[in-house]
Amino acid sequence: MQWAEIKALLLSAGNARLTGEPVTGILSRSTAGPGAGGPGSVFFSTGGRRVRLTVDESAPVTIEHKGSGVAVLSTDGITLPGKLEPAPLHCPGQAYITVSGGCIYHCKYCEVPLHEGKRKTVQEIEGMIRDNIDCINAISLTSGVLSDPEEEEEYVISVVKALKKFDIPVGVSIYPTGRTAARLHELGVSEVKFNLEAATGRIFSVMCPGTDRELIMDELVQSAALFGKGKVFSNIIIGLGETDEELECCVRELASKGIIPVLRPLSPSGELKGRKRPSASRLIRIFRMHSRVLLEEGLDPAGALTMCSACTGCDLVPGRDDAI
Ligand code: SF4
Repeated sequence: MQWAEIKALLLSAGNARLTGEPVTGILSRSTAGPGAGGPGSVFFSTGGRRVRLTVDESAPVTIEHKGSGVAVLSTDGITLPGKLEPAPLHCPGQAYITVSGGCIYHCKYCEVPLHEGKRKTVQEIEGMIRDNIDCINAISLTSGVLSDPEEEEEYVISVVKALKKFDIPVGVSIYPTGRTAARLHELGVSEVKFNLEAATGRIFSVMCPGTDRELIMDELVQSAALFGKGKVFSNIIIGLGETDEELECCVRELASKGIIPVLRPLSPSGELKGRKRPSASRLIRIFRMHSRVLLEEGLDPAGALTMCSACTGCDLVPGRDDAI
């Protein structure tokens, strides 16, 4: 079985049971997005490929930690030797920092509004990066919206300014205001990600009440003109009720504008806790379509320096997860 097929199986399962030696220092905890506040996760890598799995004692996938990060993943007759990668600041090799951990919006798939919002100070963020500078080569910033999008943007911009001194690529993913792309470009940010979240406007309006999909699309288009092809990303969740055709239509629309869609399997949480994760067969079918469209448009996520396309833990990423 090729790696992409194995990863599709793992992403469809979403979790793994840890056995063997303790994983102290290797477990990663999220404060943003669908996995926020969860039981923790691990990054398993093999042959330069990576997957992130939530720790769950009842999972059929097992990862045996043999010590010092050396590990063996087993599932469905597959045995893969590899390693568990440390992720001191959310994901391996990056400081991926959630600036504000609360949100005024109530996207149905997200846990963040259910948690008490805490905003990190600029000094706190600088300290986190300074303490980990030897094991990171990029900084990624995301944020909930603590009071209003304009105020959040102002605060995130003050963080970006303070982080310039570290002189490593910075990626930013926040809810935009209409002038976000221009301001972040002016500041020398390397890459941006504004999430359309749902493949269609109809699903978006149900899932993300109070937010504006057209505004996000406008910012994406502005970003593509400013940052250039392959420097602008947008998460689309697989499994919110869209058809494969609707997803392909959305992927084609974004890619034709120079924007790389990041196709993220639903991780059922928030109000969608009872939903199923997308099947492995659907994930691999969508991965093939995604790879084909990006190739046609000359877009390559393998060039990403920051955020999810550089990490690859949660998605099948064309150019990174292709079969070996
Ligand atoms: S792919 Fe994105 S959300 Fe998933 S672990 Fe990596 S940086 Fe975090």
